[in-house]
Amino acid sequence: SHIHIAIDGPAGAGKSTVAKVIAQKLNITYIDTGAMYRALTLKIIQSKVKFEDIDRIIEVCKGTSIELDNNRVILDDVDVTEKIREPIVNSNVSLIAKVPEVRKILVEIQRQTAQGKSVVMDGRDIGTYVLPNAPYKFYLTAAISERAQRRYLELKNKGFNIGLKEIEDEIAQRDKIDQERSISPLKPAQDAIIINTTSKTIKQVVEEIIDFIYR
Ligand code: C5P
Repeated sequence: SHIHIAIDGPAGAGKSTVAKVIAQKLNITYIDTGAMYRALTLKIIQSKVKFEDIDRIIEVCKGTSIELDNNRVILDDVDVTEKIREPIVNSNVSLIAKVPEVRKILVEIQRQTAQGKSVVMDGRDIGTYVLPNAPYKFYLTAAISERAQRRYLELKNKGFNIGLKEIEDEIAQRDKIDQERSISPLKPAQDAIIINTTSKTIKQVVEEIIDFIYR
């Protein structure tokens, strides 16, 4: 039989890094739901659709193919794995992700992808909404200063020179939109294990999660 592992939390808490290692260790599929919202946001930016034009956004969403293939992100047959991590996407993705019809369409794909197989899925509403029956739910948090520092180093490695303060503001703004939206807002599921990853290594967090699963 298969296992479903849900990993939620705010930006920069370490979800995707930890989820990837766990998927590899358990030899199961990793599904990065944030990448799907990011890919759609990229398409909307590229198509020059206005963020206020909700009808058009929904239309674009319906006509878009997003595939996750071995941790590569394919948008309408184009590999956008790197492009979806750019600052322009960071600062706009939560505006697209709060559109209820967009969530309906992407959540449906996420549920189908998880059906009948073992997955570790990371996002904002996996434990609360996408896979509410998942037997293993984790909610990763960390101090905002640490989360900003992690993103700062990631972006710097990719050649983006963005100040720490600017990144901290962007993350705080995104978390606020994610927490305040009307449909499946960011929050821990009632039965989630909350892990504060501040000053913990990836290895420590992975071990904590694996230990819990096999306890
Ligand atoms: O996880 P990541 O930072 O890539 O997610 C980008 C954005 O996508 C989040 O800030 C949030 O607005 C949206 N998202 C979401 N629900 C998910 C995953 C991501 O609303 N399950």
